[in-house]
Amino acid sequence: MSDQHSFETLAIHAGQEADPQTGAVVPPIYQVSTYKQDGVGGLRNGYEYSRSGNPTRAALEENLAALEGGRRGLAFASGLAAEDTLLRTLLSPGDHLVIPNDAYGGTFRLIAKVVSRWGVEWSVADTSDPASVRAAITPRTKAVWVETPSNPLLGITDIAAVAAVAHEAGAKLVVDNTFASSYLQQPLALGADVVVHSTTKYMGGHSDVVGGALITADAALGDELAYHQNAMGAVAGPFDSWLTLRGIKTLAVRMDRHSANAERVTELLVSHPKVTKVYYPGLPEHPLHEVAAKQMRSFGGMVSFQVAGGEEAAVEVCNRAELFTLGESLGGVESLIEHPGRMTHASVSGSALEVPADLVRLSVGIESVDDLLADLTRALG
Ligand SMILES: *Cc1c(COP(=O)(O)O)cnc(C)c1O
Repeated sequence: MSDQHSFETLAIHAGQEADPQTGAVVPPIYQVSTYKQDGVGGLRNGYEYSRSGNPTRAALEENLAALEGGRRGLAFASGLAAEDTLLRTLLSPGDHLVIPNDAYGGTFRLIAKVVSRWGVEWSVADTSDPASVRAAITPRTKAVWVETPSNPLLGITDIAAVAAVAHEAGAKLVVDNTFASSYLQQPLALGADVVVHSTTKYMGGHSDVVGGALITADAALGDELAYHQNAMGAVAGPFDSWLTLRGIKTLAVRMDRHSANAERVTELLVSHPKVTKVYYPGLPEHPLHEVAAKQMRSFGGMVSFQVAGGEEAAVEVCNRAELFTLGESLGGVESLIEHPGRMTHASVSGSALEVPADLVRLSVGIESVDDLLADLTRALG
């Protein structure tokens, strides 16, 4: 599949030519662990064992690389499995990493509680301000980690500006592109070295699979990560790879609707007397709205807001919502609501990454927006 094709076409076709044996238009689920060799070492198309390579996973990996405009895509068992493999490829004991002050809670936990035990140093920066990133960099900094938009406060980082700061210091820039998806934002084209996805979210899009991905701009780093993917073993299984590929086919149309619905939801929230603050990069009052408008195709489906009346009032809104299902995760076709302080971000409580107690986070789905607005109006009371 030529890279000349537009995103929507690549999403459906890249890595997914009709099966040569049967003409099946969808890559089969190669639910297999090992492959017959034609004589010792005579591998067919390089396949020998499914941790090292599996045709369904290979189809997904080729697709992911095409969608991010990268040289290499790798699929993992979860977003955190991808992150763990990446961190332990890029960093050795004594190396330093800059992380954002509003990182996904699980990313923070992996770095602060697990990878740090292995002797990796880290410090926190406000990545929305390139000067803060520059100030956090030390002579041992090997990587800068950025999440944009961020979770759950929808902070924006200027990817091109922070790529320049990281590269000046000889460090790699990692961008967690989970909230935007490959359709809304292309970090490699803006100077990032590695893109991370929890494909569990928008890429899969149907709340039916947990997965992760790494995509690199550079073939050599891609090879190094592929070596660690096999050596560490946190690979995506064939059925999970197949489900993710199926989800990706509709990514463009889903994201257009997520963004359109979220914009209507923010209009309601901004004018609602019980809402004290709305976090959405599409709002002109967002401090980095201009940067978001420059680097994103549209502003996505995630919206957070603070509720008058504090933590209990925020919890009440979550409990009263009906169509917005109370639950963790995000990025599926169905709308979700949650209280980050007690749910997704409980692990960062008491740290520099603590979130406001009166915060509610929405993953705005692709249902009828009128039904969504009615549910929120009722939940806000
Ligand atoms: C969910 C998520 C992750 C972790 O991915 P899993 O698939 O749950 O392991 C990482 N980053 C962001 C922004 C996420 O939302």
